[in-house]
Amino acid sequence: MDAVTPAPAAVELIALTKQYGPGAVAVDAIDLRIAANSYCCLLGPSGCGKSTTLRMVAGHESTTSGDILLENRNITNLPAAARGTAMMFQSFALFPHLSALDNVAFSLKMKGIGKAERHARAQDILQRVAMGHLAHRKPGELSGGQQQRVALARALITQPRVLLLDEPLSALDPFLRIQMRAELRHWQRELGLTFVHVTHSQEEAMALADTMVVMNQGRIEQAGPPHAVYNRPASEFVARFMGGHNVLQTADGKVAVRNDHIRLAEAGSTGWTATVSDVEYQGTYVLLGLQLDGDGADRNVSVMLSEAAFVDRPWATGERADLSWNPTQAHALAA
Ligand code: ADP
Ligand code: MG
Repeated sequence: MDAVTPAPAAVELIALTKQYGPGAVAVDAIDLRIAANSYCCLLGPSGCGKSTTLRMVAGHESTTSGDILLENRNITNLPAAARGTAMMFQSFALFPHLSALDNVAFSLKMKGIGKAERHARAQDILQRVAMGHLAHRKPGELSGGQQQRVALARALITQPRVLLLDEPLSALDPFLRIQMRAELRHWQRELGLTFVHVTHSQEEAMALADTMVVMNQGRIEQAGPPHAVYNRPASEFVARFMGGHNVLQTADGKVAVRNDHIRLAEAGSTGWTATVSDVEYQGTYVLLGLQLDGDGADRNVSVMLSEAAFVDRPWATGERADLSWNPTQAHALAA
């Protein structure tokens, strides 16, 4: 591909809008391009419009206005089954009484495809996710990871170009959740498909995404690679939602400074004087809570010190300290 031709977008949303009723705008004219063969996470607090966006792409929800393109085809008004998308649901939602093979073959059965052909196709897909040897097992006889692969195979049987996942890991215990997300990442790369994954977990989105899309009240606040969003939050909302940042009111407006980029010194030099209110030992680092002098908003500051820095100068509750940071590490926030 030459330098001027943009890489094809797997999914493109153009001014996509969903209004459930008067004044109830769930998705507000969002524009987004999701690159082919990438892992995209839609991230944001509950109610911000993530699931509505995904359901509109899947064809499970009508649009109020705007367009949805899949590989440059306008799919806005196509039925779900004709779009080239497939959905993977929370907790896998497998039929417990059916074997892995019959779970995967189920949608083909609904389409009236004969037993021999649907079993051959299901076996083939199970093979691709390294589950061919366990095709006869029922979900209850499989580990969580194996169940997820069956769910993945069941979504892949329709040969989608884009796999849509709505909070697929939320119901799992924390240990399994981390294991399963590594598997999802692996299969996205292995299969060369585009995944669009909805989550309210910043940690999950950062771990998985090539492109992270932070949503708030039906709008996109920021989209980009996780490191760019984390290191240069575009708005106060993103800085606060991502965590690990302080929002500070300076003479030039609000800035975000990462809590591990703030330095502490003896009080009396910088003009950013604070009182230590909390000291939490976290193993490899120590998290300090401080309260800035004055009476404005945003006076709570958190500072993360390496264990070595804390051993060097162990701050205690009630002590006075001065804050400073490298100006290049203070990111101006949109008002
Ligand atoms: P998220 O997945 O980010 O938690 P949703 O997309 O489910 O958010 O919801 C976005 C907004 O739309 C919320 O205010 C929600 O209450 C509203 N909403 C979602 N589904 C419906 C519906 N079927 N009818 C009316 N309002 C809805
Ligand atoms: Mg949701």
